Parts: sequence; structure tokens; C-alpha cells
Amino acid sequence: MKHFSIAIPEQLNEQLCEHLIREDGDEDLIFALWNYSLGNERDTALIHNLIFPEHGDRQRHGNVSFNPKYIKRVCREASKKECGIVFIHSHPFPGWQTMSPDDIVAEKIRLSETVEVLTGYPLIGMTIGSDATWCGRIWNYNRKKNIYEIQWAESVRVVGSQLKIDFTKSLIPSPKFSQLFKRTRAVWGRENHEKLAKLKIGIVGLGSVGSMVAESLARMGMEKFVLIDFDKVEAHNLDRLVGATRKDIGLFKVDIAKRLIETERTASRIQINIINKNLYTEEAYKGAIDCDILFSCVDRPRARYILNHIAYAHLIPVIDGGIQVRFEGNELKGYEFSGADWQVQTVSPTRPCLQCLEVYSASDVSLEISGLIDSPSYLKGISKDYYKRKNNENIFPFSANLASLEIFHLVAIVTGSGGLINFGVQRFRYDPGIISQYFDKKCSPNCDFVKSIATGDKYIKVYD
Ligand SMILES: [Zn+2]
Ligand SMILES: [Zn+2]
Repeated sequence: MKHFSIAIPEQLNEQLCEHLIREDGDEDLIFALWNYSLGNERDTALIHNLIFPEHGDRQRHGNVSFNPKYIKRVCREASKKECGIVFIHSHPFPGWQTMSPDDIVAEKIRLSETVEVLTGYPLIGMTIGSDATWCGRIWNYNRKKNIYEIQWAESVRVVGSQLKIDFTKSLIPSPKFSQLFKRTRAVWGRENHEKLAKLKIGIVGLGSVGSMVAESLARMGMEKFVLIDFDKVEAHNLDRLVGATRKDIGLFKVDIAKRLIETERTASRIQINIINKNLYTEEAYKGAIDCDILFSCVDRPRARYILNHIAYAHLIPVIDGGIQVRFEGNELKGYEFSGADWQVQTVSPTRPCLQCLEVYSASDVSLEISGLIDSPSYLKGISKDYYKRKNNENIFPFSANLASLEIFHLVAIVTGSGGLINFGVQRFRYDPGIISQYFDKKCSPNCDFVKSIATGDKYIKVYD
């Protein structure tokens, strides 16, 4: 059976907490709508909008129950928007919540069949504790037994300026302690180490930066990886590809990265999925959607565009970095190194997206899709200076610095360790040798990615 998870945009989560966690300690309820996010191994319900109760929609008496009028209105909204329905309620105790007999009656008996028949989507139930800890479940129809069966979500992810994940312990156990990573764990503490080690981390692009990110995570004690890259090792990669030797020329970069993680890992158990396909193939795309967080270590506009879509539409934060090495001169005199910049940013709802940050341009994406970006006639038509800026000269220490900054971004958004959750957009300039931070950038008011938050692939399909 596929894994199941639930993801909520941070802004909706704030509204939910405000409505559901009451000062008088009473329970409350609300219905919401959801969209599918379908990965290879995991399906996620993306909470998309909230339908607040109106006068007469519910009865509150310590416990709370909904009236038929409310569920009818919610079903009409769900059919109009072609969404599924989530029933959400609160309990007055902290932590992960089990279901009371009343909860089972409400979800299994009163709602599961009605909701699926009316909307075509299975019912989802969620409970929030008084400390804002989430748990959730989906009610799947078992044809053979003719009943609705519960499947618990392995996690509920709240995604925005932070990535806050509540895991179901029986499905995602805590990492086993190992002496090998005790010094690492001592830096941010046991709780934060657990938050990091429980994540399924995707690395898209296993070139120089990607291989260094992989090694860092393996040594830090991370346990679950998805590695995506279609490319093979070439001789000119050996000056900056961690884990690769002369003997590896011609092998897939993902196989090298897998071997690297297996040898360098400090965690006592490890799970690595490798996909040697381009991100715009269905298998690689859905492999990316299986992850809780993604590293974008790619150098192509189309892959960046796809990752940007995933960050907003599928609620999976993307840590993206890029390096630009500059040369001055001309064809006659030759070109000389004149400087280098590298930039890192984490994109997710409430933060600016890669397209609005101008990390890639939409026109370059179209060029790549049309196949023109590599054609000699296209390259001839653009200025030499443009070509020089766009080529991929790079050296090991540039990549090492960028990979290291990317790991800080992961620690910040997941743990907030040291009080930091967001480094903003960070740009290192070789000349004068300082890292600048930018917090002032925002998505444009018409940004399509912001409009696509939590819609999955419903409106835009970005893979072949
Ligand atoms: Zn309850
Ligand atoms: Zn944007």
C-alpha cells in the first residue's frame, strides 16, 4: 500500500489553529477541501481551502458535532471545485491524538460513504491537539469487505516560512542513536536531530554541489534519500564530483552518490531511492513528490521551473543554489577569470519563488523545451558575453561553499535551531568576499506559482 501524508500551507494552518484551539478548552470543528499530490510511493492530501461553520452549522456542548446543513454546503463547494473533503476537529489535550468512539461514528459512519459518493474522493479526517500537534487519516473503501477502512497519515506537514512536520510514531519511528553522529547531534540537540533524520530528502542533480550535499547529509546521520539525475560521469567531472574516481567514468551519477552515502553514512539504517531519469519524466517527477524537502542542484532552467512548481503546488520546500563564474576579455586576447557569485534560497509558500527571484527566466524554459537552448545556431545568435556567463565553468571550492550554505538552509527551515528559520536570499560575491542577505524580495502580485499553492497537478502539468 502507498504511504499517505497530509500537507497544509502555513497561512491556512494559522487560521485553523486560531479557530480550533479555543481558550475555553472546548473542542471545535471545521471542514476543508483538499487536492491530490500523487508520488511513486506516497500520496499526499494538500489542504486547499477552509469552509468555516456558519450560524446553525454546529452544536457546541464541550464536545462538538456538525449539522446536516453544514455538510451539504461543504459537499456543494467540493463538487464545484472538484476537491475532496477533510473533516477537522480539535481535542483539549496536547500531542498526537487517538480517536474517541464519537470520532469514529462521525467519520466512519456519518461521513466516509456520503463524502466519497458525493465527491468521488475518500474522506480525510484530522485532529489537532491543544499544542497544535496534528494527526490525520484517510478512509479508503475496501471493495472485498464492503467497508471503509482507516489508513493513518505517516505525517502532517505544515509548509511555509518553516517546515513543521508531525509524524505518526508507529509509521515513522525515531532514528536509532549511533555513536558515529553523537558530536553532530550534540550541536542542535536530540529533538532537532530527530526532525532532520526523519525527513525524506530529495537531491535533484548529483553533480558537484549535489554530491557534496549528499555527503554532508550522510555524515550528519540522515536516513532517507531520493536521488535524481539522468547524467553520467565524464572525465571533466572528476575535478569536483565527490565520491567519483577515474574508474567511474560512464556510470550514472546517482549510482556514485548512492555508493557515497552508503560508505560515508553515520545513521544505522538507510534508505536510498535512485532515479536515473530527467526530472520531466513521470518517474523522476513523482519520485521528487515523494520527498518532504528537495535540494535543487541543477543547472537547467526547465528543471528549476519544475522544482519551483513542486514547491508551491505540492508544498515541498526547495533549497536552490547556483554558481556563476565570470570572465572578462575577448576572443582575440582570451578570457580571464574576473569573479564568481553563488546564490542560495529556499522557496516555499510565503517566500518568493525562483521565477520572481529571476533565478531562471520563463523564456529560457521555453527555449529548453523547444530544444533550441543547445543548438549552435541559437548560441551563435547571442552575444559572446551572454554565452560566457551562461557556461558552466566551476571549481571544487565554489561548489563546497554553496553546498555548505544549502545545508544551513535545511537546518534553519526544519529546526529553527539558534532562533533562525530563514537566511533569506544569500549571495556570496568573490569580490569583495562577503555574503549578502536579501529579505526584501517578494513574488509579483500575479505570480502563477502563488496561485497554484496546494493545487497539485490539477491545473498545470509540468512533466511529459
Ligand atoms: Zn475527537
Ligand atoms: Zn513568484
